Amino acid sequence: MQGGSTNRSRQRRPQDREALASRSATKTRERTRFIADAMLGSLARKLRAFGFDATYYKNGDDVGLLRLSLRDDRIVLTADRSLAARASARGIRTIVLAGDSDGERLGSLANGARAAGVSLIRGDPLCSLCGGELRAIKKNELSGEVPPSVRRRHRLFFQCESCGQIYWRGSHWKRLMSLARRLDQKEHAIDLGRR
Ligand SMILES: [Zn+2]
Repeated sequence: MQGGSTNRSRQRRPQDREALASRSATKTRERTRFIADAMLGSLARKLRAFGFDATYYKNGDDVGLLRLSLRDDRIVLTADRSLAARASARGIRTIVLAGDSDGERLGSLANGARAAGVSLIRGDPLCSLCGGELRAIKKNELSGEVPPSVRRRHRLFFQCESCGQIYWRGSHWKRLMSLARRLDQKEHAIDLGRR
């Protein structure tokens, strides 16, 4: 991801996994949970970076998406009105998004959430690739995954606990966080704390 990340695998100790599991359980209850349809993958990745629990349905039909949204209690995000109608008919909370860009879609997400009485609650940023929790890591824990110029310019780095992706607060990250704050202002969402 430009200005943002690189990958490396990492071993975790059992006690780390336990601590993570209990922390994740708390966070997943608090964050607003979404499932986006297959057309909205890039929006879902942004929503994860903002700190929402967001997934998107890459492969499969509408029935599978609706089943997953019921099972995991996720709000459906789609631009497809027929899918939205099917979801609503099953009592699933759904927000219909309009617009050709993610910026426009986020605006319509804020409006749709307000109309549907959905609180937009986000926690700390999550891995945009997999939705895993991020932990701060020291510069000397990096081993060649980050370009030298980035290493020189940045002090803070974060690693996904699930997939190992490395992030730093480059220009891409800053743009994302500025979008997230605009969403907060539009919706008066409860912010669960930023780093
Ligand atoms: Zn990840």
